[in-house]
Amino acid sequence: MKTGSEVLLVDHVSVALSGRSVLRDIHFKLAPGEFCALIGANGSGKTTLLKTILGLVRPEAGAVSVARPAERDGATGIGYVPQRISLDPSLPLRARDVVSLGLDGGRLGLPLTSRAHRARIDQMLSAVGVADFADRRIGDLSGGQQQRVLIAHALVRRPSLLLLDEPLANLDVRSTAEIVVLLRRLATDYHTAVLLSAHDMNPLLSAMDRIVYLANGCAAAGKPEEIVRTEVLSQLYGYHIDVVRVHGRVVVIAAGAPDEIHAAIAKDPVHTAEIP
Ligand code: ADP
Repeated sequence: MKTGSEVLLVDHVSVALSGRSVLRDIHFKLAPGEFCALIGANGSGKTTLLKTILGLVRPEAGAVSVARPAERDGATGIGYVPQRISLDPSLPLRARDVVSLGLDGGRLGLPLTSRAHRARIDQMLSAVGVADFADRRIGDLSGGQQQRVLIAHALVRRPSLLLLDEPLANLDVRSTAEIVVLLRRLATDYHTAVLLSAHDMNPLLSAMDRIVYLANGCAAAGKPEEIVRTEVLSQLYGYHIDVVRVHGRVVVIAAGAPDEIHAAIAKDPVHTAEIP
């Protein structure tokens, strides 16, 4: 890393896909234990940014640095929960097997059943609140329980950075709130920086330390109170929008805006549409 104690440095990164500019001059950093929301409408570049951090997409300018944990056997730099994993109900894998794959996956063919590894898996299953379902088939678990198991899979090697691509999509309101509380606690307990993408910031308001808001291929990044403001988001969208707080929710309104601005606004469409 170039500077101090950050876990992640996204250093003026620009990305083009198939010759088309998708991200321009994205710059932010995360410290250990920070919880950061990556907010943007569909197509704003959230997945592309996460893939760039993972090293799956090469930036055309700038660079990404991820700190590796110094200590511990098997510790890794990045844990990743990808978007929309659909698990076949007939898959003959128990919840504990999925978590175990996170630990042993890089060493397939050498089944690791040592006491220390078994203890690590049990500890991880408990930490995400699925110890009681450890021996159930993954396909038999609810969406929220499956998401917890996938988080345990990603965290079992104690990464310094956890990336999650739209982990709240398709969850009901209660499961969404529970997963956010869980991730907030895990970030603090494990000193893991969490970067979580979503199209609606509202479920994350109470948890996030930082926000990276994507629009027009650019990002506004900082503390929520610095970024979720009419002036900042208007500049990012290139159009006057209003940031309004209603009953504890943030609503981004672009009155009279052309359709492409509406389409580019990161929001919860159901609730926002009710605001005239
Ligand atoms: P999000 O995750 O926010 O929905 P994505 O990162 O998936 O956004 O996509 C950002 C933009 O890049 C979109 O306009 C999408 O159409 C485009 N895109 C994604 N993958 C490719 C690709 N392989 N080639 C060209 N354009 C792409």
